[in-house]
Amino acid sequence: MKDRSDRLVRKIVIVGGGTAGWMTAAALSHRLCGLGLDITLIESAEIGTVGVGEATLPQIRYFNQALGIDETELMTATSATIKLGIQFCDWGRIGDSYFHPFGAYGDTIGPADFHHYWVRQAGRSGCEPFGNFSFPIVAAEAGKFDLPGPQNEDGPTAYSYAFQFDASLYAAFLGRFAQQRGVRRVEGKIVSAALDGENGFIRSVSLESGETFGADLFIDCSGFRGVLIEQELKTGYEDWSEFLPNNRAYAVPCEMMGPLSPYTRATAREAGWQWRIPLQHRVGNGHVYCDSYISDQDALDQLMTTLEGKPLAEPKQLFFATGKRRKMWSRNCVAIGLSGGFLEPLESTSIDLIQSGIDNLVALFPEQECAVSDADEYNRLMDAEYARIRDFLMLHYVANQREDSPMWRDFRESQMPDSLAAKIDAFKSRGLVPDFTQGLFLAPSWLSVFIGQNVMPETWDPRAGILPKQELETKLGQVSATIRKGVDAMRTHSRFIAESGAAFQPPEAGQRQ
Ligand SMILES: Cc1cc2nc3c(=O)[nH]c(=O)nc-3n(C[C@H](O)[C@H](O)[C@H](O)COP(=O)(O)OP(=O)(O)OC[C@H]3O[C@@H](n4cnc5c(N)ncnc54)[C@H](O)[C@@H]3O)c2cc1C
Repeated sequence: MKDRSDRLVRKIVIVGGGTAGWMTAAALSHRLCGLGLDITLIESAEIGTVGVGEATLPQIRYFNQALGIDETELMTATSATIKLGIQFCDWGRIGDSYFHPFGAYGDTIGPADFHHYWVRQAGRSGCEPFGNFSFPIVAAEAGKFDLPGPQNEDGPTAYSYAFQFDASLYAAFLGRFAQQRGVRRVEGKIVSAALDGENGFIRSVSLESGETFGADLFIDCSGFRGVLIEQELKTGYEDWSEFLPNNRAYAVPCEMMGPLSPYTRATAREAGWQWRIPLQHRVGNGHVYCDSYISDQDALDQLMTTLEGKPLAEPKQLFFATGKRRKMWSRNCVAIGLSGGFLEPLESTSIDLIQSGIDNLVALFPEQECAVSDADEYNRLMDAEYARIRDFLMLHYVANQREDSPMWRDFRESQMPDSLAAKIDAFKSRGLVPDFTQGLFLAPSWLSVFIGQNVMPETWDPRAGILPKQELETKLGQVSATIRKGVDAMRTHSRFIAESGAAFQPPEAGQRQ
């Protein structure tokens, strides 16, 4: 067998210094530090970053842990708050409210999955709401948080958490981290690329200044533009607007009023939905909408008239088309972040997709020839991730009973992918939530949306029927009581931040943001 270590990629150019670019630079410089990589990141202050992306998923903690980043330090640097899940208001019907928490529901009380026992009791007098059987939901509603201890690893009190942070500060934090590990940062605008006449590989990129940068591997983190993957390699875009038609957003920060809630809120509106993401020093707000159903002005007015505090900046408008590149890895170019695709931010999945892109790249780290089989496998994995998330997002729209506006009626009738239709059928008929073999959202997430949006199964797992009624009521009562007791013992979210040393320390003047 031949030793091909001399064929490994050594020189990497990352295009873009947004969240995707700096996450990639930080991860490669740390996780592959033994390879002697020469990494250059090129970013353009003139173009700037998308400047939104504040809510994350618990997986981000594994990303940070793999880099050895201390969570308290991260929180102080990025104004981070804790996120225990997302509260969805007015989604099934106006007036409804439910949570998608970071944790499972209930406990093992027999051979069937917990939710079947609850479904058996649902609607009967004395049956508590499904959310009372989720530790993170009860904690979120009470505004409580403490770091999980050994007692929170499994059983009814198990939970996880994520962060809500200032994405620009997170990118800057990782920028410092990556540069300390040898990543070179270059400021400038890429205006062209030179392609190899034989295999079409990118050989170099040139800046407006005339400077040229060559590499074995190019990572396109240039945002929606797709400077390399699309403008140069013309990979093509798979448009999923037919499944998820929202295509615009306004974003604006405002002053914080009231207590610091440990969760993100997504409130359905007439022609879209509005996010509320509390950070330590402000609240991030945005209205995601579909321009076929509302004018830009009305969308903006709806956002600005529902802010809880004084706006802290001019609202920013963003345009997007849901979908993904036909190939996220093409030749010697890998697109990570918005350059690879975009699914609307309803479940805060974009940063997680960046993380998956990085993990898959590290796992398949290529030789200079970039074998087609590596690229194919990468694309297969990323395509599956995107499709699973697309289905989960679409569930929020097809499972609505709102009659107040054309958008909700039309979205309910949308043609859905077979994979989603199968999931809904399995739940409606027997309460089953088969896990995808690959994909981000597992059964508890699907249950949250199904039950939260009034989709109930016709029947429950017959094994849940064996437990005598009285015993079932007692066991359910014990589970919710255990959860309440655990939550009662927690600190408030604000107290946790203050006492754990995680209070925001704004960057000093002159420090790169
Ligand atoms: C409305 C909205 C809300 C969102 N909310 C969330 C959320 O809550 N949670 C979440 O996980 N994600 C969210 N996202 C997604 C999130 O914002 C992005 O995934 C994340 O910011 C990564 O962006 P990026 O780094 O890929 O692109 P950008 O931030 O756009 O960065 C692109 C970089 O490329 C550089 N660049 C571009 N062209 C050139 C060139 N020619 N030469 C040199 N440099 C160039 C730019 O200067 C910049 O540095 C949201 C997105 C939108 C649109």
